[in-house]
Amino acid sequence: MKDKLLNDIALTPVIDFNDTQTQKSYERWMRKSKLLQVRSISALTAVLYIVAATTDHLIAPPEILSQLTLFHLYILPPFLLLIFLLSFKKQFTFLTQLLLMTAPVVATVGNLLVTTHLEHPAMRLTEIYLIIFWVFTVSGLRLWPATISASLIVITTCSIFISYFDLPLEDFVMHCFWLLSSFSFGFLAAFLLEHSYKTIFVHQEHLKLLADTDKLTGLYNRSKLDILLKKELKRSQRYESPFGLILIDFDYFKDINDTYGHQVGDEVLIEIATLLREHLRVNDIAVRWGGEEFIILYLDIDQKALLKLSDELRKKIANHKFKNVSPQTATIGVTLFHKNDTINTIIQRADQALYQAKEQGRNSIVLN
Ligand code: GH3
Ligand code: MG
Ligand code: MG
Repeated sequence: MKDKLLNDIALTPVIDFNDTQTQKSYERWMRKSKLLQVRSISALTAVLYIVAATTDHLIAPPEILSQLTLFHLYILPPFLLLIFLLSFKKQFTFLTQLLLMTAPVVATVGNLLVTTHLEHPAMRLTEIYLIIFWVFTVSGLRLWPATISASLIVITTCSIFISYFDLPLEDFVMHCFWLLSSFSFGFLAAFLLEHSYKTIFVHQEHLKLLADTDKLTGLYNRSKLDILLKKELKRSQRYESPFGLILIDFDYFKDINDTYGHQVGDEVLIEIATLLREHLRVNDIAVRWGGEEFIILYLDIDQKALLKLSDELRKKIANHKFKNVSPQTATIGVTLFHKNDTINTIIQRADQALYQAKEQGRNSIVLN
């Protein structure tokens, strides 16, 4: 029962898809994931059209050969190669998507324009079903852009059938049914694919969170601190915007475990994490350094403000009424970023400050 309680209190990472930040990072991740697909498919499709153009004279009726060559060689491959090239430039992402939606519509119109000249167009119209499937499952378009593109293809095809083709009723009905079938199969495949992508994304984010956070308190863990500190050191060295680092060690924590038991000790650590979270300013970062020791990074701060915040935190902890244990205190080692700092030097300095503070009397802060 108590174990269950602890699990409930501890911050289990959850990915919420309604959160706009999550949605934004999903969109970014999807764009990245689809990029290789868009690139390779546009290049491959261009090549296949060129191959088709070289074989058209063997299989196509002579009366449509010149128009087929126009589309298969001079319009569609350059169009697709343009998409391929634009996909390398991030600033053209929207244009790439737009062209990717348009290319299959152009291919469909081309097919219809060419086949209107045939007495028996049925066989050549089958390419349109392949195009619809290409849009939904192969192109790299997301569900809704693909649906718009495929809908345009269906609407254009039906309109041209009615306006320019003299199809017998049974052929017309059969083609409409095949259009509907390829559209619905394609849509379902794209819908399921999008769903799988979302599931993969959620699992991936969940694993990332688990790798970055301390299971008991939900705060960042030591390995995440390394990454954040590296980034912050670089930023501070470049922009000369100092940050502060404090190392907080709870006084006589062992006594809590000895007196109340390890599980109560765990609950106190969770309560402490909440206290730290409440204390942070918007961009500050709290980390469980290990055991009953925590680190806070205060970004963009000067020495005076750093000492003020550290002492406020010390007082906040000392005045806090813990649920199951008597009032507790913490000792804090404080340090400010130095120009040539590395991860080791800045933490070492905070550790020395903490050591001095413990020496001079617990429930105190020392700046080093
Ligand atoms: P000091 O004032 O010198 O810091 O004394 P202290 O007792 O806080 O320090 P010490 O390093 O001797 O003991 C730290 C204690 O923290 C011992 C360890 O059992 C406890 N501890 C470390 N991690 C956890 C944890 O995850 N849960 C619980 N309940 N206790 C922990
Ligand atoms: Mg300690
Ligand atoms: Mg301690």
